[in-house]
Amino acid sequence: MAAPRPLDPRRLDVAAFAALGGELSGEIAAAAMPRLASATLPPEDGSPRPDVKWRGTGERLPLVGAGVQPSLLLFAATDVTLECQRCLGPMHVALRAERRIFFVDGEDAAAALDAETEDDVLALTPALDLPALVEDELLLALPLVPRHDVCPEPLPRAFRDDKEQLAKLGPFKRPSRRVKKAEEPAAEVKQPA
Ligand SMILES: [Zn+2]
Repeated sequence: MAAPRPLDPRRLDVAAFAALGGELSGEIAAAAMPRLASATLPPEDGSPRPDVKWRGTGERLPLVGAGVQPSLLLFAATDVTLECQRCLGPMHVALRAERRIFFVDGEDAAAALDAETEDDVLALTPALDLPALVEDELLLALPLVPRHDVCPEPLPRAFRDDKEQLAKLGPFKRPSRRVKKAEEPAAEVKQPA
């Protein structure tokens, strides 16, 4: 029997990890997550993107319709900058992903169970790329339509005041802009010849 492989997050033997009740955690440089980088903005102060913190816990648990199977409880966290879809300004989001994933033999069985149950089911692999899975989960955790709760720059003050003023005056008291304009001197300043 071959000696057990040390638990390498980049080539994780999920079945062994789950049987062991193993736990792994660490930090991944944002530079190692190009897909997440392309889905987010760089921090506007020019600082580098923060690292991603993650933790994985292995456990053998019952999966509906498949008996006891290896599972992985994955947690990942980082802070990202996104573009607010209301004001188009930068928006900071504390991105958190937590998911339990079951692993079963065979792609077809995994796909069928994944469709049938509420749990996420992947095909069992002797060499799981955990950092890639962490990146997948963070991408899935991104808000579909990022929006500030309260945008930092509402409508310009002058515009709002003008609208409120007109509403108070009512339709018959609106100042006639056309007459006023006619009395004003020409806006263009002509250069002396
Ligand atoms: Zn906003």
